[in-house]
Amino acid sequence: MSADIIDGKAISAAKRQELKREVSTFVAETGITPALAVVLVGEDPASEVYVRNKHKGCEEVGMKSVQIMLPATISETELLKIVSDLNKDDEVHGILVQLPLPSHINEKKVLELIEPDKDVDGFHPINVGRLVIGEECHQPCTPTGVMVMLETLGVNVSGKKAVVIGRSNIVGKPISMMLLKESATVTICHSRTVDLAAEVKQADIVVAAVGVPKMVTGDMLKKGAIVIDVGVNRTDEGLVGDVDFESCLPIAGAITPVPGGVGPMTIAMLLKATLKAAGFAVGNRTATIA
Ligand code: NDP
Repeated sequence: MSADIIDGKAISAAKRQELKREVSTFVAETGITPALAVVLVGEDPASEVYVRNKHKGCEEVGMKSVQIMLPATISETELLKIVSDLNKDDEVHGILVQLPLPSHINEKKVLELIEPDKDVDGFHPINVGRLVIGEECHQPCTPTGVMVMLETLGVNVSGKKAVVIGRSNIVGKPISMMLLKESATVTICHSRTVDLAAEVKQADIVVAAVGVPKMVTGDMLKKGAIVIDVGVNRTDEGLVGDVDFESCLPIAGAITPVPGGVGPMTIAMLLKATLKAAGFAVGNRTATIA
């Protein structure tokens, strides 16, 4: 029997519909329309597409979005002033600075200036700390999307053995914390892991966030494992994940494809985070959990 293919597009579309209703209730109750400011520095075509999609996504669920397009030559001081002004602007609830930034700008300085309650990407150290100690906070959108997928599929994470491959601040570490919060037994693997295949073989849930095309193969999996492929790799054969989909399909219990798996969840979670940020602005720290 082959694995269930997890349809990220369908889950994302359902989540956006749900969010649209939640936004409408929020607006009716508070008179406030949640608003996201997206700051883009320079003219990277891929980033421009992401920013456009975020803008479209906001409009579709009834939220406002402000796009701030800045030249690549902008100084760090000028950019910091813009972020600082957005922090003070009561009509902006979420702030996202599209990465990467030009090399003359210190990314860390910019990200750490964003007011934590407006930090919809969840990259600010305050939010990272809150995630670790289990407090309500903004959390990185991609791992949040993975957790929402597991929840939607009815996967009971508690007590399961989860193996996360990758320890980045954007995916590997936060997804590990989220799985731990849901009482999984979590192993985090990385480039120095001695026997990756042996670790993966133990896993009921495998999350691959590596950036190496098709590195997780079917022979590494335990029969019935749930396989979440976060990887996005552009290769000669097109977009492929970190998981070798073909060889894993007969062994896994459920698996995300690339494209069409985790990818579509990320923007949906960003929109959800913007509603959460608007909730924070009216003192609501629990009602809009992603
Ligand atoms: P990083 O490059 O920041 O991290 C990769 C991690 O993989 C590192 O921890 C690294 O280990 C580990 N690694 C590298 N090679 C191996 C190996 N041979 N065996 C075991 N571990 C290894 O990547 P990101 O976390 O930012 O992204 C991971 C993937 O997810 C990429 O393909 C990226 O494009 C994709 N992605 C997709 C998103 C989406 O929306 N779908 C969003 C974000 C990322 P070490 O720390 O030891 O170097």
